[in-house]
Amino acid sequence: MTQIVKPQSLMSLVISFALLIGLALPATTVFANATSVPGGVYAWSVPAGASDIRFQNNPVFVVGQTALVGIPIRQALGPAQITFVYGGQDQTHTFEIVDKRYTEQRITLQNKEMVSPNPKQLERIRAESKRQRAIYATVSAPMDLSTGFSMPLEGITTSLYGHRRFFNDQPRSPHSGLDIAAPTGTPIIAPAQARVALVDDLYYNGKSVFLDHGQGLITMYCHLSEQTVSTGELVQQDQVIGLVGATGRVTGPHLHWSVSLNGYRIDPLAFREALAIATSVNP
Ligand SMILES: [Zn+2]
Repeated sequence: MTQIVKPQSLMSLVISFALLIGLALPATTVFANATSVPGGVYAWSVPAGASDIRFQNNPVFVVGQTALVGIPIRQALGPAQITFVYGGQDQTHTFEIVDKRYTEQRITLQNKEMVSPNPKQLERIRAESKRQRAIYATVSAPMDLSTGFSMPLEGITTSLYGHRRFFNDQPRSPHSGLDIAAPTGTPIIAPAQARVALVDDLYYNGKSVFLDHGQGLITMYCHLSEQTVSTGELVQQDQVIGLVGATGRVTGPHLHWSVSLNGYRIDPLAFREALAIATSVNP
């Protein structure tokens, strides 16, 4: 069916569209920062005097006057709330979760035990995952993050956070971190000051290091050939924590870097950018 638009009505359409844009602009500006995406970071300027800031009941990371809130990748779109106490009263701040289309990735693995583990391996995987969840739930005292986050490794980004993955055509959960490829033995550095929460050898993740940066910010480094720190040790920004390797479920030497914020694995690059803005450090 063909629709004929008369020049006159077309003109009025253009005018109303222009008016619509003109009217919409101030609102867009006001709400520009009041959105985030699943797997992203929501930055919120904390009102002076506000305390006990929480998202989904978990305490939230605060640097300077900015709260950085980790949004789970499975978060429903639409309104989401931060709760806080202000002037002795319980308050909420509402923001909006908007869609982000993450790309798809198909991987072929020769080692079938890495795609479909046997019952004994599954038991090990479950125990390891419980151990990891306990680390992610840790909320320690604040550390010095005023100099932002260094990149833990310079290399080729081979897989972004959020990729919807298929291993040998079987769907798996979205990629929970960022993959950076570099030759085996390349040093990996701590992005910021941290306490080493765990040094472990895991079924899927291989030789791994977990860093606790305080306030529910935990980072994880996987598939290492060697860990150069010990559990409980305090590390400083840019200190070497391990070397690139190919241990665990991999197709080649690379670093899998995860960032966990208030209990959720989020996009490491989005966090790094949000922290840079919050601390006024060039990312
Ligand atoms: Zn990865």
